[in-house]
Amino acid sequence: MSTTFITRQPLAANLTADEVQQLIAFNLLAGATRCWREGSELVSEWPVVGSQTRAAAAEPPPVVAPLRTGPPTDAALLLPDRDLALLHPRLRGPVVQLLQTLNAAELPFQVFEGYRTPERQRMLYAKGRTAAGAKVTNAEPWESLHQYGVAVDLVLRDGMQWSWNAKGGARAQWDRMRTEAGQLGLHVLEWELPHVELPLALEACSDGSLLRDGDESWFAAQQMGAQRWAAAGGDGAPRYALADRPAMVA
Ligand SMILES: [Zn+2]
Repeated sequence: MSTTFITRQPLAANLTADEVQQLIAFNLLAGATRCWREGSELVSEWPVVGSQTRAAAAEPPPVVAPLRTGPPTDAALLLPDRDLALLHPRLRGPVVQLLQTLNAAELPFQVFEGYRTPERQRMLYAKGRTAAGAKVTNAEPWESLHQYGVAVDLVLRDGMQWSWNAKGGARAQWDRMRTEAGQLGLHVLEWELPHVELPLALEACSDGSLLRDGDESWFAAQQMGAQRWAAAGGDGAPRYALADRPAMVA
């Protein structure tokens, strides 16, 4: 009886060599004895464990979630962006006010990340799925409010270091930040302490209604992200950012 079996997984057409390597590493971590690319497929060889028959072992191995396709990743696009100009003005004002209030109260919060490129979102989504590490998000590209410039992550800045510590006395600082954000009409998430966003559903971000009171610096980031993504054949970019900007509605 064979002591191994083979699976074949289709690969998305425009995965980069690095992404294919990530998938191979993932399957090896998941227990494959060998894994390689054959044309448009990823071939893995899996051991039949213990007294399992081949049929029983052919229970599908962990299926690698296909990555949403898009342009190859440029390293700079993967870094957290802290430029407040890329936020939607409806969020930018309250965030500045929030930081002033907190800093006046000697709570050293700063923006760790604001606008987030779809490429960075894809990289974060891969963590704990097709890349090493624990899962950090359930949102794929264009499913996070960060892509629309309407979410920020505020983190404690301790000298030159960022601190996510929320244990002991530090917890009160995070609670205060979240309370102050709520008083400014912003929304916080139960499961993600640093995250502050406009109280908007995803559809209300992608349907173009943000254009009404958006400004040039916000829109430039929207347009660059969406057009770069779509030009590489990626799906999901919001239509409003794919066209040239319509006239501003007064
Ligand atoms: Zn966030």
